[in-house]
Order: sequence, then C-alpha cells, then structure tokens
Amino acid sequence: MPEKPGVESLVAIRKKLHARPELSGKEHFTSRYIENILEELQPDSLSKNIGGQGVAAIFKGREPGPRIMVRSELDALPIKESNNFEHRSKVDGVSHKCGHDGHMAIAIGVARYFSINRPSKGELMVLFQPSEENGEGAGKVMSDPFMNENRPDFVLALHNLPGYPLNRVVLRNGVFASASKGMIVRLKGKTSHAAEPENGLSPAMAVSDIIRELMLLQNEPIFRSFVLLTIIHVRIGEIAFGTTPGEAVVMATLRAFENNEMELLSEKAVDIVERNARLYGLRCDISWTEEFYATENDVRINKVVEDVAEKNDLKVTHLQKPFKWSEDFSCFTREIPGVLFGLGAGENHPELHNPDYDFPDELIEAGVKMFTGTFEKLLIKSFKWQKLLS
Ligand SMILES: [Zn+2]
Ligand SMILES: [Zn+2]
Repeated sequence: MPEKPGVESLVAIRKKLHARPELSGKEHFTSRYIENILEELQPDSLSKNIGGQGVAAIFKGREPGPRIMVRSELDALPIKESNNFEHRSKVDGVSHKCGHDGHMAIAIGVARYFSINRPSKGELMVLFQPSEENGEGAGKVMSDPFMNENRPDFVLALHNLPGYPLNRVVLRNGVFASASKGMIVRLKGKTSHAAEPENGLSPAMAVSDIIRELMLLQNEPIFRSFVLLTIIHVRIGEIAFGTTPGEAVVMATLRAFENNEMELLSEKAVDIVERNARLYGLRCDISWTEEFYATENDVRINKVVEDVAEKNDLKVTHLQKPFKWSEDFSCFTREIPGVLFGLGAGENHPELHNPDYDFPDELIEAGVKMFTGTFEKLLIKSFKWQKLLS
C-alpha cells in the first residue's frame, strides 16, 4: 500500500503559509519555506528563482516517460483579513484570500507522495509559481530558461471553488476560465481657466462618449459568445474648481470566453477610443495590463481527471459554460496539453478574494489524491496515445 499523504502535517504547512502571506512578485519567505520542505524530500532536481520567486522540484521514475507538471501558486492578495483564528495573517493588509496556501499544501503532498512512492515511469514536476494574481507569473515562468530545459509534456492545476459542495470535482472540456485584460486609456487635451474653456481642450465630452460606447459594445451582434467590458476607473483633470481639465484616464476590464473573441473585443474598443479622440482633437494613448488568455482544457486529459474523481468516490460537476474569471495557468495550456479543474470549497463558503475567506483543509486530501491519481493514470494513457500516433 502506498503511504498516506500525512494530511495533518500538510494542514500545519498550510496554516503556517496562511499566517505569512506575501504579495505577487514578493514571495521571498514563501518560496524559501517551500524550497526547504522540498529539499528534505530529496528530489532529483530542485530549482529556484524561476520567473521570479518560482520553485520547482522533479522526481524521476525508474524508467523514462512523460514529464507531468503539477502547478501551485505562491502569492496572496492585498486584502485585510477579517478572521480571528490563530493562523490568521500576521501581515497587515495582506492575506491568502484565494486559497493558494491550500494549493501549496496539496502540491507538497503530491511531491511527498512521489518521493516515497517513486513513479514507475516518467517524471513528476511540482512547480510553485509566483505572481498568479496579477497575471504575470506563468508567462515569466514559461519564458524562463528552466522551462526550456525542463519542458513538461502535460500540465495540471486545480483551484478551490466556493459555491460548490465540498470536494466536488468541477470540470469542463475546452475553455474552463475566460480571457481577460485591463485597458488603460489616456487622453490629452489642454488645460485652461475654468472661466475660459474655449481657450483649452477638455476631454470631458470624449470621456463621456467613450464610456457610453464601450459599455454598449458587448451588445453588438458581432460577438458569438460571452464578452464583457467593465469600466473600473475614470479620472478627469484635478479637483480644482478654477481649472478646465486637459487630461483624462479611463480604465476598463475586458473579458471573453474565447481568445479570438477577446481579440475582436479589444480591436473594437481601440476603434471607439481612437475615433472619439480624433473627433475631439485629443491625443490618446492606449496600454494593456494584467493580460490573461482563456484557459483551455485538453479533452483527453479531462476524461482522465473525471475517471480519477469517480475512482476516488468524488462527485463530478460538468460546467455548461466557462467561468468568467481568468487564470494565468492559460500561459501553460496555450502551449502544453493540460487541465485546470475545480475542487468545491463548500456551497456556503465565503467567496474567493473576500476578507473572511479561508482555505478549507478538508480539500487537501482529495486534492492530493486527484493529482497523484491523475499522474498515474495519465502515464498509462499517454503511452497508449503515443502508440496510436506512431
Ligand atoms: Zn485569486
Ligand atoms: Zn487563485
């Protein structure tokens, strides 16, 4: 019998990480802590500073075979924790409100399992990725030389999901999570005395038209699936009652189920801004931030995950539509076949990114079992797929 993952010690690790949260790109304590734990598990290789604070360990099987990556995130959020339990965040204004502390504990459980029960074939790679919350980490990891030298054949990740029953496995063939990105529009005219607006060039009318047109854009019949544009911030001039403004900023978040629909939405949004800027004689500058692609699941691997859930007596929910939120795991699935699946965190559990959220420790055991089971089954399946191809 393979050894149990040792859930209590994983819970202790999770709580320790919860108490010491760090923001995206600043995961110094977290990555060192993870590195020390991994080192004790004696992997065949242990690498750090991948795409920033990223850490990865590889556990090789007795015979060569595919390299399967399990990804966890390292970062927390700039949210003040409202919980009062003992393991509450000790860092003011920062806390693990997305459950990445739990995802890390699960990934360590998987590493521990395969350090004891070495795979017969292939390799397990556990990757602890920095900067998921701002969408930068996965892209940086992908372009790190480490990934070139240790490119996985398959990639796996999970996200805990409040709103679904505890330990419910949530799956979707194809797109699982949406594409999204931030748009920053800067308009420049000319300031003047508020008594003489005719001597200046105020962007106020342009801002008004741009907001209106951007907000109506999603209703255009050109889009075949869900798109959404949300205005998130607007600023015109300064608070000075004697001045006609000469500058403005408009920010919006764009979302779409499909990557090509996102391209179309972006193009149309740019058209609206540029046309209005021209019309009002303003200079404009458009930049983009926090860009996420849609996360697309591989149909064959999705079936493997489903079988593993059933084998572990975990119920499965198949999503009718993708989630409207985004995940930078899409940077991996764009190039490498993989699956991101959900694990229910309880129907009445506080939502992700809410100040009272805390990762439910009941998910750790199921999370470890899902990954180890999927690894083992995917290994067997992939040899069959290879035979079919050759
Ligand atoms: Zn999050
Ligand atoms: Zn998250």
